[in-house]
Amino acid sequence: MKIATNLTKLRTEIRLCEKQFNREQGTVCLLAVSKTRTIDDIQAAIAEGQYHFGENYYQEAINKIQALHTQELIWHFIGKVQSNKTKSIAQYFDWVHTVDRIKIAQRLNEARPAHQPPLNICIQINISQESRKSGIHINDCNAFIKELSAFDRLKLRGFMTLPAPANDVDIQRESFAALRELFELTRLQNADIDTLSMGTSQDMTAAIAEGATIVRIGTALFGPRKAKFC
Ligand SMILES: *Cc1c(COP(=O)(O)O)cnc(C)c1O
Repeated sequence: MKIATNLTKLRTEIRLCEKQFNREQGTVCLLAVSKTRTIDDIQAAIAEGQYHFGENYYQEAINKIQALHTQELIWHFIGKVQSNKTKSIAQYFDWVHTVDRIKIAQRLNEARPAHQPPLNICIQINISQESRKSGIHINDCNAFIKELSAFDRLKLRGFMTLPAPANDVDIQRESFAALRELFELTRLQNADIDTLSMGTSQDMTAAIAEGATIVRIGTALFGPRKAKFC
């Protein structure tokens, strides 16, 4: 089966990248980005031991999470968080990678059920400073972190970015290196920060070279998506 083969290939590639770039073995987590994929596709990955899944679209995600609720899976929200969806997102997900507004953080904090552990969050950084892209500017990050500290139902784990696409590996690495620098500086003050969510099918190698701890992979695992979702 194709998904099983792709998963084996990706795992091997990740381990090789860890070795090549002097990363400790097993420190890069493969997040399977399952947006637009069927339950069967997800089951095929689960059968091979994959348990971290990432979704972008709230309604699609909730349907899948409910359908697969008997499995021990970890669900990551990696899409744009709309304020009227914060309640369900805070209930159904283990992670939200795309926090870039205090109002959204506040709503997630309020909605996170008391019987669940604090919601893991990453701050989305607009590293390439594209005007229309989500994410905060790197210079605004310290102030943002200070504001987040008021929310005890959220656990800040680190940073996420989705840079402008680039074919050149050196250019890819430049963007990721900027996030790594922020990560290392922030970690000096906050020992709980351990996550750098960066790298997709296009730029996974560059991301691992620059310290990614979570790579978010869709296409290389499940095959091409239908155009309207790209
Ligand atoms: C879709 C998506 C990915 C996966 O991209 P692929 O190129 O399919 O690997 C990663 N991160 C985010 C935020 C996405 O929306």
